[in-house]
Amino acid sequence: MRGIVAALRTRAWMLLLCAGLSLSAAASAQTQGTSDSSAARREAARAAANVKFIRRVTGTLYRVQYGAGEGYQQMVYVTPAGIILTDTNSTADAEWLKGQLAQRFPGQPVRYIIMSHYHFDHALGTQVFPQAKVVSSDETVRKLRSLNLRYAPPPGNSIDINGDNRFSRSEARNFLVPQFDQFDTNKDGYVDAAELNAGIHVPDVTFTGRMTLQLGGHRVELIERPGRSGGVGGMVDSYFPDEKVLFLNDYLPPHRVYPGWANFDHAPLDEWIAAIDQLQSLDFLMYVSSHWDDGTKQDLVDLGSFYRALQAAVRQGIAAGKSEQELERTVKLDAYADWADYGSNLAANVASAYNLETLYRDCASMGIAVPASKPGPGVTHAAVCYSGLH
Ligand SMILES: [Zn+2]
Repeated sequence: MRGIVAALRTRAWMLLLCAGLSLSAAASAQTQGTSDSSAARREAARAAANVKFIRRVTGTLYRVQYGAGEGYQQMVYVTPAGIILTDTNSTADAEWLKGQLAQRFPGQPVRYIIMSHYHFDHALGTQVFPQAKVVSSDETVRKLRSLNLRYAPPPGNSIDINGDNRFSRSEARNFLVPQFDQFDTNKDGYVDAAELNAGIHVPDVTFTGRMTLQLGGHRVELIERPGRSGGVGGMVDSYFPDEKVLFLNDYLPPHRVYPGWANFDHAPLDEWIAAIDQLQSLDFLMYVSSHWDDGTKQDLVDLGSFYRALQAAVRQGIAAGKSEQELERTVKLDAYADWADYGSNLAANVASAYNLETLYRDCASMGIAVPASKPGPGVTHAAVCYSGLH
C-alpha cells in the first residue's frame, strides 16, 4: 500500500513526465547537459509532494493539504457533535489525518466522510475511520459495484483498449505503471476494477441530486453534478452554507489550463459546463479545489467560459474537416493566454476535446452492464460510454 500511496503523492511530476511536451523538454534539457538541474527539480517536486498540513479556512472549517501544485486537498468540518470529512485520498493520508485530528480535536469522532467520487485516489482510506458513515451519490455506488472499466474508468490515462475489462501492463499509463504489481493482487498479469477498488468502503448513505447533511447544528449541502459519465460521473461537491465555502473536485482549479488528460476524465465538456453552471447558483465567497488553488465565483464563471470556447473551437474545426493534429496547432484561445500552463497544456486540452467529440459513444440507457466495445481501426484511445445530457 505504501508504494501505491507514494506513487499517488508523486502524481504531479509523473503526469508531467507522461506528457509529451514535458518529455521532450526533459530530453532537450538533458542534451544540453542540464540533467542535474532537472533531476534536482524532480527531487524538489517529490519533497513538495510530501508536505501535509491543516489550516483553518473560516470558523470551524479546515483545509487539509497534501503536497504542492497538483496535490490533494480535503475539508475537515468540526462540529460540537463530531467531524465531517470530505474524501480520504489514501490509506496513508487517512492514517496521518486520524493522528492529527486526535491531537487537535481530542474526543471528537469522525462521524461522516463525504466521498466525492469513486476514484481510488479520493476514496481509499475510508476504512481508517470504521465508525464513520460514508456518504455519496447513488451513482458512486453503481460505479464502485459495476467493476466495468468502460463505465467506471479509474483515474489517469490507463485505457482498456481491447475491451477485455482489465488492464494489461501495456494498457497501463502514468501512476498505474509503477504500481501495477501491487494492484495485481492475484498475480494474473492483469489489473481489474475489483483490484483497483479493493479496500474502498462502499457508501452507507446515498442520494441522487441533492442532500443536506446535518451534524451538531451545522449543515453541509451535497450537490451531485449533472451527467453520469466517466471518472466524474456521480461526483459530489460539498457546500458549507454557514461558511459560504464550496469544496469542488477535479478539473476546476481557477485560471489554469489543467492537464487535459484522460479526455477530461472521460466526461463530455457539456457535462463539465452544466456542472459549472449549476454551482454558480450557490451563494459562496470562495471555493477550495481538490487539486491546486482556491477560486472565487467569478473564477468559476471564467472556467465555464473557457470550456465553452474550447468546445466551440474544436467543433468548428471538426466541421471544417481539420485533423486533430491541425487543431492542436491552430486552436489558440488567446483570451486565456495568461492562464497558468496555457503554453504547456492547451494542445492537450484540444486533443482531449477532440477525442470527446469523436471517440465517445452516448449510451443513453447506460446501466450497470455497459457493453464493452472494441475501437475501430487506427483508433488508439478506446471509446468510452457516456450518459449524455438529454
Ligand atoms: Zn482527483
